[in-house]
Amino acid sequence: MLVVMEAHATAEQIATVCDEITAMGYTPHPMPGPTRTAIGITGNRGPIEQAARIQRLPGVAELIRVTVPYKLVSREFHEADSVVSVGGVPIGGSGVTVIAGPCTVESREQTLNVARAVQAAGATILRGGAFKPRTSPYAFQGLGEAGLKILAEARAVTGMPVVTEVMDVENLPLVLEYADMLQIGARNMQNYPLLRAVGRTERPVLLKRGFAATLQDLLLAAEYILNEGNSAVVLCERGIRTFDDTLRFTLDLGVVPMVKLLSHLPVIVDPSHASGRWEQVPPMARAAVAAGADGLIVEVHDNPAFAVCDGQQSLVPDRFAVMMEQVRRVAAALDRPLTA
Ligand code: PEP
Ligand code: MN
Repeated sequence: MLVVMEAHATAEQIATVCDEITAMGYTPHPMPGPTRTAIGITGNRGPIEQAARIQRLPGVAELIRVTVPYKLVSREFHEADSVVSVGGVPIGGSGVTVIAGPCTVESREQTLNVARAVQAAGATILRGGAFKPRTSPYAFQGLGEAGLKILAEARAVTGMPVVTEVMDVENLPLVLEYADMLQIGARNMQNYPLLRAVGRTERPVLLKRGFAATLQDLLLAAEYILNEGNSAVVLCERGIRTFDDTLRFTLDLGVVPMVKLLSHLPVIVDPSHASGRWEQVPPMARAAVAAGADGLIVEVHDNPAFAVCDGQQSLVPDRFAVMMEQVRRVAAALDRPLTA
């Protein structure tokens, strides 16, 4: 249930409605919007009984039954686009934000080289994995804390905030010491204890879509995080498994405008993992921005032939710079600047 307040409702009237919701045994979530405040109600298992107790209060315009199973992430709940700040860099809103960096942190030199190169080309957030979710247990698993330290050094040198994956609840305190944004990988999108744990922090979260997850599954995964109190969530389309194995995954760009319709959360696209081939990355990045994505996350490596992970889908810095110019022009056609 969503309580829509009148445009001129006072703070006191909003507080009275929240108190009534609490007295009924539910949880109120006031969400101020540009024109009026809406108050979401959670904690109810079925329809709200005695809704008239809320309806009759001063300042209440209408009660809307929310028919989608997610509430806090829904557009009905929060009409304006949410903007998530990652160490001062916004994702969502008017601009298009580009996150770039290596798949995995391999060494100090590699990470600093790539960080400087992507920054020079216009990226504003650095990516890099220290804990890698690998399909094979025999593949390189990441440098762990040593990798996090290298990312922190790259942040100190470039000033770029960093996003890195947290794979389990156990390592969350360690990752929190270094990361500006916590990445939940595709394989962990439905790891509910992990979603709850990051939801109890105040750190921005990059939530990647699972390869067999519907958009509703993704929105419900985000709901777990918001329901714990953390609303700084950015969704990421990174390709799904389909019958066609020409590319590594199938980029499902239709979800970008669909997220915009259903949710207030920013949505970005990962053209690197979606395609698995570097040649595909620039065209898919351009298409993602044309479809309305709030940003991109792109893998870049200074020596892809020797990359320990995902070299075949990594752009070299020069190609990344060319792609950035194209993306800038596509974004400009939609009156969106690249976040500087
Ligand atoms: C990654 O971004 O490094 C990654 C492993 O992505 P995904 O979880 O989407 O496979
Ligand atoms: Mn990768």
